[in-house]
Amino acid sequence: MKVAFAVSEAVPYAKTGGLADVAGALPGNLGKVGVKADVFMPAYKDIEAPVIETITVTAGAQHDVKISRRDNYFFIDAPGFFDREGLYGDSRGDYPDNCERFAVFCRAVKEFVGSRGYDIVHCHDWQSGLIPVYLREGASTARSIFTIHNLGYQGRFPGNKYSLLGLKPEYFSIEGVEFYGDISFLKAGIVFSDIVTTVSENYAREIQTTEYGLGMEGVLKKRRGQLFGIINGLDYEIWNPATDREIYYPYRDIDGKHRNKEALNRELGLDTAAPLIGMVSRIADQKGFDLLMKIFDDLIGIGFNIVILGTGDQSIQQKLLDYSSAYPTRVSVHLKFDNRLAHRIYAGSDFFAMPSRYEPCGLGQLIAFKYGSIPIVRATGGLADTVIDLDQDRENGGGISFSEYDRHALLAALKRAYRLYCRKDDCVRIASRIMAFDFSWERAAGRYKQLYDDVLALPSTS
Ligand code: ADP
Repeated sequence: MKVAFAVSEAVPYAKTGGLADVAGALPGNLGKVGVKADVFMPAYKDIEAPVIETITVTAGAQHDVKISRRDNYFFIDAPGFFDREGLYGDSRGDYPDNCERFAVFCRAVKEFVGSRGYDIVHCHDWQSGLIPVYLREGASTARSIFTIHNLGYQGRFPGNKYSLLGLKPEYFSIEGVEFYGDISFLKAGIVFSDIVTTVSENYAREIQTTEYGLGMEGVLKKRRGQLFGIINGLDYEIWNPATDREIYYPYRDIDGKHRNKEALNRELGLDTAAPLIGMVSRIADQKGFDLLMKIFDDLIGIGFNIVILGTGDQSIQQKLLDYSSAYPTRVSVHLKFDNRLAHRIYAGSDFFAMPSRYEPCGLGQLIAFKYGSIPIVRATGGLADTVIDLDQDRENGGGISFSEYDRHALLAALKRAYRLYCRKDDCVRIASRIMAFDFSWERAAGRYKQLYDDVLALPSTS
């Protein structure tokens, strides 16, 4: 079975979030269950690989697209589209031609895989959402699976750009890619793929509700018979404190972890007595920063230190900087993308906070487990599926969770965390327990393989 992954970012070539981790790890794990998976992604700046073919694709205008290859990665390059500073935008915001950029990407993947005998195109998030409709329009025999990693990004563009997609007029309808007069790449993926998946069972349920559906709940409900939730795994070759070269001291136990905490505190200039909360996150509304801001002084008042690494929303960034000036030895803020520091934070913090408004799967909590940082999370999406509250299950619990998206609930969770920290033996026992949790990719790879088999057994729609 031959599968083409179509994705806008993948480790080790380009990453802005968890999608890249998934796209970097899942293909290799599918290989272990007999699926050959190649990855197709844009040829961003600094990606170098030998060109293997040039094709001409039509999406609005004609584009000469170069396809280059390194191992099982194929890079799509259209002149002027991908050789830029950012993946989706720069400091001024999203690139204004994202519609054209990713339409050409989708068209090129569709044309190329069509000529190379792939059985399935596995598309990820809105950037590859047009591929299922291109396959349908072209009466392709290849099947498509569309995975939603985050419903919050819908690839929505003005309807007057429709001609740039190179699709027949009839697809611009309520049954097609049209969404309230606009184009939605995400909707295209949901409507025209053979199977839709998302990255946790809980999120698969949540997105069919008005609260979490972000306007797509109706479209998703229509597909509920073909909608599945599969929790992501974690790549333990990258995320393993025993072998991690990015951290100060590789470790297998909590004593080793404490040495990392001391080193991190020293590097960041933090006062060393306090329990340390880590956060590594895109700074977006989704991630609960508004809630965090409401209780920031209380958090310090309880006795925590906090280190935050992230980039994103300008106004939240400014507020975080203000807090770090107000509490220079208690709060450490780093507004950048920094893989090494991320590893060091996972290794050096006692707790890891994810007070998310919504969270499709979340990788941060899985990494935190492995590094013995006890997660403090809001019970939503994949966080609810993976973090069993310690009060709910003392023997097997893995963290502290709260339900309501409000300041009192978060504060109560933080107070519980502080009390746990004060019970040193309990805290060490739980941190050691979570380090042994297994969220490896094998299980998820097996489930995807099963879905691939199912989709190939479907009767032909063309
Ligand atoms: P999302 O995909 O919504 O961004 P996840 O928790 O699924 O959130 O995955 C986030 C991934 O990106 C994790 O591997 C996290 O460590 C990493 N990450 C996020 N922000 C940064 C940053 N500023 N520097 C380094 N790594 C980051």
